[in-house]
Amino acid sequence: MAIIAKKRRVKRTMIFGSVFGREIYSVKSVSKGGRVGFDCFCEPLSLKIYTMSMKIKIWGARGSLPSPHTPQVIENRVRELLERFQSSGTSRETAGNFLSKLSREQLGGFGGNTSCVEVSSGNDRVIIDAGSGIRLLGYDLLKGPCGKGEGEVDLLFTHFHWDHLIGLPFFVPLFLKGNTIRAHAVQAEIHQIFPIIFKKPYFPVPFEALGATVETRCLEPRTPKHFGALKVTPYLLDHPDPCWGFKIEQGGKIFSYCVDTEATRIGRSEMGNDLPLYQGVDLMIFDSQYTLSEVVEKVDWGHSSATIGLDIAMREKIKKIIFVHHDPAASDQKIADARAEADRYYHSQLKQAKGAGYPMYEVEWDFGFEGMEFEI
Ligand SMILES: [Zn+2]
Ligand SMILES: [Zn+2]
Repeated sequence: MAIIAKKRRVKRTMIFGSVFGREIYSVKSVSKGGRVGFDCFCEPLSLKIYTMSMKIKIWGARGSLPSPHTPQVIENRVRELLERFQSSGTSRETAGNFLSKLSREQLGGFGGNTSCVEVSSGNDRVIIDAGSGIRLLGYDLLKGPCGKGEGEVDLLFTHFHWDHLIGLPFFVPLFLKGNTIRAHAVQAEIHQIFPIIFKKPYFPVPFEALGATVETRCLEPRTPKHFGALKVTPYLLDHPDPCWGFKIEQGGKIFSYCVDTEATRIGRSEMGNDLPLYQGVDLMIFDSQYTLSEVVEKVDWGHSSATIGLDIAMREKIKKIIFVHHDPAASDQKIADARAEADRYYHSQLKQAKGAGYPMYEVEWDFGFEGMEFEI
């Protein structure tokens, strides 16, 4: 609240505030005789222009199977870091300084939870896929209306392979009475998924006993649907079972989610009706389970490499591309090696394009990790 004006004879005080997201102001009048009156005014909704940004958080960056570090991996890493710290020779160097200089692969790694990404703008939110990463997101949501049984959650499913579903039975908002969970997918199987997963002997709590109300809805291919301020359009990816990526637009910004995909259609004409998924994009999350040599060996396995994503991004002028769905068999060092391979590829492509004089755009890119956040 801010008091912004006072007048003499009849003392008027203007007070600004906000109720349910709408700005209001009131004028408090005190006459000479001490009579107090209030006039309230509310800003018309139609005049208000909201320019909220879009926030994206990766809750699971691993593909195919949750892959926590083994105790041996952690022990080896701790041992190696302590030895390096001791041998750094600078007694003045604090542990904090030392740790801040380490790379992702040397410190926390890329994470072991499978696909789950949260996209939000103000109070509007969608969650893409329910891999094991959704468990921690569920705890986070309990801090808000979901914790009081007043939550409404929209889940979008790309497809129903295990690594995109496996966290669902551990998504706590599902068990609290009063919450409403709406699950959306292009595939009609969305109507069967919950009763199949929440069923004995696969899970002790049957679907009928869930506290929350669960609603399932089909999305239309390549047709936008609004989730509050978020406009979501599904486009087909290249995967052994049908898998749909999502283009999410808000406030003139575009986020594109392309997991899982082998990206067998690379040319614009091959992409056909699905080309808009890759165009005008500010941030794209892309499947890079394999290195370039692995992707050549693993035809029809349904996954891509960073090099293929970079080709698309450089041609389509994608501003930023983040590579995820890391192979469960890959160590943090192997993922870092794949990033180095992608870096060599990226610079050689740029050099070649400049030499040949054909258009290829510079893009910002990196390999994604669990907990990584963006704002566009
Ligand atoms: Zn997957
Ligand atoms: Zn899959």
